[in-house]
Amino acid sequence: MAKRRIYIAYAGGTIGMRTTDRGRAPAPGYLAEQLRTNPIFDSPELPEFTINEYEPLLDSSNMGPSDWARIAKDIEKHLPKYDGVLVIHGTDTMAYTASALSFMLENLNKPVIITGSQVPLCELRNDAMDNLVTSMILLQRYADRIAEVCIYFGGRFLRGNRAKKIDGEFFRAFDSPNMPPLGRVGIDFELSWDAIRKPVADPKPLHVQPIGTASVAAFRLFPGLKAETFAPMLEGIQGLVLECYGAGNAPHRNEAFMEALQQANRNGVVVVDVPQPLHGCANLSLYATGRALLDVGVISGFDMTPEAALTKLLYLLTRESNPDKVRRLMQIDLRGEISLP
Ligand code: ASP
Repeated sequence: MAKRRIYIAYAGGTIGMRTTDRGRAPAPGYLAEQLRTNPIFDSPELPEFTINEYEPLLDSSNMGPSDWARIAKDIEKHLPKYDGVLVIHGTDTMAYTASALSFMLENLNKPVIITGSQVPLCELRNDAMDNLVTSMILLQRYADRIAEVCIYFGGRFLRGNRAKKIDGEFFRAFDSPNMPPLGRVGIDFELSWDAIRKPVADPKPLHVQPIGTASVAAFRLFPGLKAETFAPMLEGIQGLVLECYGAGNAPHRNEAFMEALQQANRNGVVVVDVPQPLHGCANLSLYATGRALLDVGVISGFDMTPEAALTKLLYLLTRESNPDKVRRLMQIDLRGEISLP
């Protein structure tokens, strides 16, 4: 097979870090140099690549909407000339970036694969080499059959907006808890072609929808929450991802808490309920503690990850000014991020 051409957007992460006297930190130049000089990356099984090392390289704990915008704009500029994009990124907020890009990159008709590693490439035992090489092989072999933002990590190929960092110790750091992986890579590549979003024959031009001018927050319920703590954070925001118990339940006997939610709803704040359990779908009709939330205007995020719900809220609130329209669109499948009951 002829070599494909891919664009590598290197944003940072452990993969290219070195240990300093203040702990691991990005090492400018190191990873790009390895990619250029290690003969492995010249293999006929890998695509040709151009690498753009970002300045500054970031630990992804420092990343946010302006960094997502930078990556999205970079992809918009280069994707027309390439068969696909590899984003090299830290693992800590990779699931947020993957979700955000999936919404921002409207009419995406080629693959964007995001990877990183738990151990830096410069260490003798690492997961960096496999994650890099396998992501590049995926792009070389299948670039014409994938049209979505994915994560490849530790043998799993995942839809980006379904992914979650689930492990801080082992190499299988990511999973998509409410959806089977798009593929598994062991001795062989096993891809679920029925699930993978594929290119269309006559695509509209790629368009980047900016994200991040809206003000959103996320809040995880805990037993003993005081309404005085909760209510102030609802002021001045447009959207909230509320991580609730079990099937999406909340302490409905706490009147001040419920009143705060009702007031937020009246003020046009879009409150989206996602379940705290790793697996499962919010079902607000199942318990009285869930129904009460519906009564005060909270909407179900069904089985979206908190990462997908937050970035989708940002995306929609940046695009739409009418909260009811945002509520409706939050409950529609835009990029494969949600399973509707
Ligand atoms: N703190 C690092 C980051 O997210 C962790 C990693 O890449 O694994 O950039």
